[in-house]
Amino acid sequence: MDSRLDQGRWLRIPGPTPLHPDVVAALTHEMVALRGPEVQGAMARIQEAAKKYHGTTEGRVLLWAATGTAGFEASIVNLLAPGDHVVVTTAGAFGERFADTADAFGLNVKRVDVEWGEAVTPDLLKQAIDEHGDVKAVMITHNETSTGVTQDLKTLGRVANDAGALVIVDAVSSAGALPIDMDENGLDWVLSGAQKAWMCPPGLMISALSPRALDVASKQTGFPRVIWDVPTMAAASEHNFHPTTGPMTHIFAFDAALQAMEAEGLEAVFERHRKLGQYFRDGMERIGFEILAKPEVRSDTVTTFYPPEGVSASAFQAKLRDASGIEIATGQGAITDKVNRIGHMGWVAQPELDATLEALEAARQE
Ligand code: PLP
Repeated sequence: MDSRLDQGRWLRIPGPTPLHPDVVAALTHEMVALRGPEVQGAMARIQEAAKKYHGTTEGRVLLWAATGTAGFEASIVNLLAPGDHVVVTTAGAFGERFADTADAFGLNVKRVDVEWGEAVTPDLLKQAIDEHGDVKAVMITHNETSTGVTQDLKTLGRVANDAGALVIVDAVSSAGALPIDMDENGLDWVLSGAQKAWMCPPGLMISALSPRALDVASKQTGFPRVIWDVPTMAAASEHNFHPTTGPMTHIFAFDAALQAMEAEGLEAVFERHRKLGQYFRDGMERIGFEILAKPEVRSDTVTTFYPPEGVSASAFQAKLRDASGIEIATGQGAITDKVNRIGHMGWVAQPELDATLEALEAARQE
């Protein structure tokens, strides 16, 4: 039997995800000098490996002790100034959170709303940029964890680039699982959290910045910045340490996760997610569940689906938990109790998905 099942890894919510065993081991690492060779070695390895997963050779990867949402704030205070025009793709709860954060910082925000389950099209984005005028940045949720939709970074990035806007990408539930191709797609700030496809505990915010983003951040004076100050963080990271006491345990864990991913191979990691995503969705449809996302934009890391007719999402979640021990999520925002969500990213293989499908089928029929 697959070791993951032996160990009872029944966590199928879309994050936090099960920890890779090498990550679990790394979390017991004793404290060492905060700017000593062990930390520096891990930081150097992380920089190189994480750049590959973001698809950048020219960019830099910076790490903060925080969660993904902090990346919204960090990108805003480093790249923008109050009153700046921005366009945010709001295809679900996390796009809305990004737009709300931009509002909170006094940016002039235009939202591109679509039905939940759909993705923003390049035409819709272009129209919004043209209508808003003088757009300094476009915020795109790569993978909308609330709806299980993946948006197309290539076409959306191109539209934003053509308008001369910076492109900020929420890749919280895609980085480390789906190709991002930062350089090719003209992306400037790609943020994520360690607790999803990176197979680590929550608490580390990962941001990949383009040379353009580093340059803008070095000149930007629109907001006061201390902990999020990119020039300070980038200068310390040149020497492979943090300006403050770095989140050392998280750094050792992330280093271990990236080494495990390197051993599997970047293309193999992406391919595993692609195959498992398809496999899981096919299985769900075979046993009669309806998936929220439109077929052409379905995510390979999260599936959002309707519970059986007449059953609320929370009741179905509880039923599955009681019957099998498998933990799935309910929805978010306006569809909180109308849909369930299952994660298939990070440390996951087919046996867990088979067990999940089997339990779902049984719970559906009872
Ligand atoms: N963006 C997306 C797409 C997410 O899935 C999440 C968390 O699930 C977040 C942002 C927020 O991340 P965090 O909870 O780490 O702040």
